[in-house]
Amino acid sequence: MTFNDLKLIPSILKALSMENYTAPTPIQEQSIPAVLAGRDLLGCAQTGTGKTAAFALPIIQLLSEKGKQGSNRPIRSLILTPTRELALQIDENVKAYSRFTELRCVAIVGGVSQREQERALARGADIVIATPGRLMDLLNQNLIQLRNIQVLVLDEADRMLDMGFINDVKKIIAKMPTQRQTLFFSATMPQEIATLVKTLLVNPVKVEI
Ligand code: AMP
Repeated sequence: MTFNDLKLIPSILKALSMENYTAPTPIQEQSIPAVLAGRDLLGCAQTGTGKTAAFALPIIQLLSEKGKQGSNRPIRSLILTPTRELALQIDENVKAYSRFTELRCVAIVGGVSQREQERALARGADIVIATPGRLMDLLNQNLIQLRNIQVLVLDEADRMLDMGFINDVKKIIAKMPTQRQTLFFSATMPQEIATLVKTLLVNPVKVEI
């Protein structure tokens, strides 16, 4: 199978060839058509499997097709991940994959000045990649709006639970429309995560690697 077979748009295909990706990984083959079709997704996959592109590529495609925001650019996709390192890695990948689109993405992580992130948000972002702590800070100060989120990604949900972020994650989700697409990734499925899956996902496509 090729990326072309997955019906990705030319701007994404061009970016992938610049990354020297020749063929999709198994998780990408399974996830990309489901996400493009608007389905919720439950993925059991570790980092290193190509998980990031599995959710990022169809999100980029969905948002750039629905397009045109002009100066009014609400955040339409939020990717929540447990650590700053993961968030910056995802941000770098999303920027590379979307380089030939008009989309803008911003990483919202702790350990760096909040000011720069506020400025980036004020300029307008379509996709935000965030760790729960810093995102909660910005939400509490009313510096970020989640009411236009169309696609939510929960990456490494079990690790967010282990790191004590689960209540923040629930509070963050409560700020979003219930009518949205949700992509949920977790390497393990402890009870608390299974319960969250039941409340958040509607008839999800299950992908296991
Ligand atoms: P991830 O599991 O998302 O952290 O990806 C692991 C590594 O594989 C990253 O360095 C990606 O850039 C790379 N990668 C992802 N998808 C592909 C692909 N289809 N072909 C080649 N490399 C890939």
